Amino acid sequence: MRLSRSFLPTLKETPSDAQIASHRLMLRAGLVRQTASGIYTWLPAGLKVLRNIANIVREEQDRVGAQEVLMATIQSADLWKRSGRYDAYGPEMLRIKDRHERELLFGPTNEEVITDVVGQELKSYKELPQTLYQIQWKFRDEIRPRFGVMRGREFYMKDGYSFDIDYKSAVDSYRKMMLSYLRTFQRLGVRAVPMVADTGPIGGDLSHEFLILAPTGESGVFYDGALDTLDWLADPVDVDKSEDLEKFFNNVSSYYAATDEKHDEKAWESVPAERRREGRGIEVAHIFYFGTKYTKSMDVTVAGPDGTPVHPEMGSYGIGVSRLVGAIIEASHDDAGIIWPDNVAPFRAVILNLKTGDETCDAMCETLYNAAPEQFLYDDRSDRAGAKFADADLMGHPWQIIVGPRGAKEGKVELKRRATGERFELTADEALAKIMAKAPGA
Ligand code: ATP
Ligand code: MG
Repeated sequence: MRLSRSFLPTLKETPSDAQIASHRLMLRAGLVRQTASGIYTWLPAGLKVLRNIANIVREEQDRVGAQEVLMATIQSADLWKRSGRYDAYGPEMLRIKDRHERELLFGPTNEEVITDVVGQELKSYKELPQTLYQIQWKFRDEIRPRFGVMRGREFYMKDGYSFDIDYKSAVDSYRKMMLSYLRTFQRLGVRAVPMVADTGPIGGDLSHEFLILAPTGESGVFYDGALDTLDWLADPVDVDKSEDLEKFFNNVSSYYAATDEKHDEKAWESVPAERRREGRGIEVAHIFYFGTKYTKSMDVTVAGPDGTPVHPEMGSYGIGVSRLVGAIIEASHDDAGIIWPDNVAPFRAVILNLKTGDETCDAMCETLYNAAPEQFLYDDRSDRAGAKFADADLMGHPWQIIVGPRGAKEGKVELKRRATGERFELTADEALAKIMAKAPGA
């Protein structure tokens, strides 16, 4: 994309109403604009990031056998009356009436819809297990929307639902999803630590929240410092083997990590003192086993092996896709701006033409740009070099290709790595090769 022709409205001033770095940077880098409290329009660069994240989430869901569906955003109140949640859900639910006075709602989550759909189709235990997911907008009328897209009212979520014939199989589905989430976060270039979360009346250890550690996080966290560097994905896991899944899960669970809600002083004391870490984290995902809660209340059964009706066991699995945009920035920025991990960046590189109108500079920039016009942002504006550098740092492109008249004459560019500040003097071809090298985990 040519910067001179694109809609990338950057701001020099810090917006006064934004309290945390990610919110300020998302506004300043032209990723989003607020249209109402907790409701945002995604501008071109922001949408690219949102899509990059969603695509990685999708690939990793598919990889463990989950299947994508797309449910409507609007749901019928009747479904929620069947599960008994219509009254329980409270004022976070946006309730709507259509012209015939029928009660509808904008979905805050989709257990009822999916249980109803699956329940109508599945007849036998032989058709299980099934895991279905979607990536879709949700609405929750949060009492205090804040921190930009991090706690919005309309937000983008991957929500998945598993159906199994018994507890043992449900545990496998749960563990698969945990594996898929850890792979997802690794590819996104962030560390999200799975922490034991509240299971409510169901009990057991099958609820985890994934938290990105950041001082501005809303949750207090306690965890074993060994987790700062542990690679949960070091051992290969065959997702069709229960033993593999169990080994993986036990490894993840063998280190203490809990949010303040589930913090257990006694277990905490068994973590060596020098490894005890307390801090704050941003919840970016949540996985949850809840057994037959919905299949019972909505009366969904399949025929079991001996022919008697069985209520399938369920789990639900959410990733905050739009929240992640903010959370990744919160974990990866400096005073100058965003530092995008390679796999989520809106552009792989920005080409900075330091002297537009200079024949050699223009020609070199055009050649570079044409190598991958959809992946590069070409700053072809006639602005001062200083302003271009500032915008490039603010927008956080992983690479900056700096083309000035002196270097261009010798066929050289300067390549800067945003994350480390490293600079390389290279030919245009060498720079392209370095930039296009497959990003780790891509
Ligand atoms: P929170 O405690 O932050 O309100 P939650 O427990 O209500 O989250 P879930 O219902 O488990 O969240 O939703 C799954 C994921 O959706 C969360 O882990 C989070 O990443 C994201 N999410 C939830 N609420 C919001 C929101 N208001 N804005 C943006 N993302 C959200
Ligand atoms: Mg909530």
